[in-house]
Amino acid sequence: MSMCILPGGYLKRLFFTVFSLLAAVGIACAQTPVDLYGRDAQGKLGIVASAKPEASKVGIDILRRGGNAIDAAVATAFALGVLEPNASGIGGGGFVIVKLAHMKDAVVIDFRESAPAAAKADMYPIGDNGKVTNVANVVGGLACAVPGDVAGLLYALDTFGSKKLTRAQVMQPAIDWAHKGFPVTANLSKIINDELGKINKFPATAKLYTNDGLPLEVGDKVKNPDLGATLEMIARKGKDGFYRGDLAKRIVSAVRDAGGVLTEEDLANYQIKIRQPVTGTYRGYNIISTPPASSGGIHVIQMLNILENFDMAKLGDGTPAALHVWSETMKMAFADRAKYTADTDFVKVPLQGLTSKAYARELAANIDMKKPMPSVMAGDPSRYESGSTTSLSVMDKQGNMVAITKTINHFFGSGVMVPDAGFIMNNEMDDFVPKPGSVNSIEPGKRPLSSMSPTLVLDPEGKPFMTVGSPGSTRILGAVAEVISNVIDHKMSIQQAVMAPRFFRMHSGDYNLEGRVSINTKNALEAMGHKITLKSDWDPFFGGVHAALLDRNRKILFGGADPRRDGYVAAY
Ligand code: GLU
Repeated sequence: MSMCILPGGYLKRLFFTVFSLLAAVGIACAQTPVDLYGRDAQGKLGIVASAKPEASKVGIDILRRGGNAIDAAVATAFALGVLEPNASGIGGGGFVIVKLAHMKDAVVIDFRESAPAAAKADMYPIGDNGKVTNVANVVGGLACAVPGDVAGLLYALDTFGSKKLTRAQVMQPAIDWAHKGFPVTANLSKIINDELGKINKFPATAKLYTNDGLPLEVGDKVKNPDLGATLEMIARKGKDGFYRGDLAKRIVSAVRDAGGVLTEEDLANYQIKIRQPVTGTYRGYNIISTPPASSGGIHVIQMLNILENFDMAKLGDGTPAALHVWSETMKMAFADRAKYTADTDFVKVPLQGLTSKAYARELAANIDMKKPMPSVMAGDPSRYESGSTTSLSVMDKQGNMVAITKTINHFFGSGVMVPDAGFIMNNEMDDFVPKPGSVNSIEPGKRPLSSMSPTLVLDPEGKPFMTVGSPGSTRILGAVAEVISNVIDHKMSIQQAVMAPRFFRMHSGDYNLEGRVSINTKNALEAMGHKITLKSDWDPFFGGVHAALLDRNRKILFGGADPRRDGYVAAY
């Protein structure tokens, strides 16, 4: 009787709460099945691997129409901003690494977000436990840094694109997807459910990604004509369409209305940076990766350098001895990361030392094969619990190689949607240490330390071999290094390398093993003294690797895509 007088919205929410509780119990008992097969592909002319089948196909269509790998990568990247709006978009930033066949050296385009001019090292309230007392660096306007996505992708297109296709042609597929809409997958529906609190704080965001406050479900469609119109305007006007004028004003007022400090000058002053990649070798293969403002490349190379002191092939795939070496390697790399790595435009990072073979030998000598070393130093791993982002790889028959990792930081970023423009602003301020005293403390214009590590691997003769990258916050470093080792040490195919069970730890805290790691390995590691946290099978915690590889005969291109996300490869 009393239920009859409850308003419809209340009833729906009540049912939803009960349903969620039952679902949570169900999930605890039985994991959602993951569609494992048919994600990889091979071709002779081109490969695009990304977190969405529709986006990978966009890239391949561009290659078919005569575009080069950068045209394809940029088209795929814009399409991902529409098709995977939880992970990246024009309100965010990232890194491109590119080596076209004619280039002697690869180049990194750093389009990482930067702190607004009014940002300060002590801009967030810090409690006695040293943590931010509210969520201001994660949710709302104060979490937003100046986006770099449009500047970075358009610079990549203008500088390295084939010029056979116009900006409008490269952006059109993304525009079309925004207008016609795309189906919600189980993965997206779960993410919306997980982020519902944040999404519902911002009505424009809730309007797009919920049904009256309830998460969109599998089979629902997301149509975003506002984003379509925004992208059309950027396709017409170029970078200035985003960083100046009407849209810039609307971005600023959305962020400031949500408590932020962003100004029109911040947007007008945003600069991409052209960086020299960090380089190293692993068992004769050349590793070319992302430098600061990302920590990624430095520590991927550092970890591989340490591993090189062990016969990983002989230690075996997934054995206790191999995972012990990985654990100790990660511990030391993450201790150095916390101490030394930050935006090199603001602090001096001992880059050569961190990536040197000699230093790695010294660190490798610290590893006792019988027992784990204590936590190398007290860090704050809880900061790194979230991780969204997206990564894509493109290779073509001409030997062009591109990897892009880009993000709005957490899934659905700060939650702040620019009204009538259809995109969400990042919460990248959360990647700074939110108080004074760290190399990674906030300064105006500084880029927060990233983990994004789009990476190229050349074979021992210096020829294209592999492109690889992943989302997953700090786990990116582990995922990228593990996939490289799986291919080089364990001779796995690229898809096997992507699918192999993952493991991750930082300098302190537990050793996280994916559920599919063998139980014998887990038990043996525990007996040695490792403290283990067992994560679920296919847990997106471990990232979502999208990679391309040219076989050793240099005839066939293979792509690997991650079932931990909605990854699919397209090829031709
Ligand atoms: N903000 C994160 C970083 O730059 C994005 C990467 C991720 O979380 O996956 O490291």
